[in-house]
Amino acid sequence: MPKLKGVPTLLADIYIAEDGTYHMKAWCPYCEKFHSHGEVDTSWRAAHCFKGPLKSKGYYLKLNPDNPTNVELQNVYKKMKRLER
Ligand SMILES: [Zn+2]
Repeated sequence: MPKLKGVPTLLADIYIAEDGTYHMKAWCPYCEKFHSHGEVDTSWRAAHCFKGPLKSKGYYLKLNPDNPTNVELQNVYKKMKRLER
């Protein structure tokens, strides 16, 4: 799917929740907090914002390239998803 115009991208890190499910968290400069989203998925996300311009637009999540753990966790996640099929 082509990217939507004017929709910004937030850098995100992957983390594993207490129940073992994979999530991404992105720092939102408008809400000044992290927004968490389920699964490892960089397609368009409905914003979890309570204020600011992203609230109506949503955003894309992009894996933070400066965090090497993201690559590791993304590989494990992909493998897990393949096994689920
Ligand atoms: Zn926000």
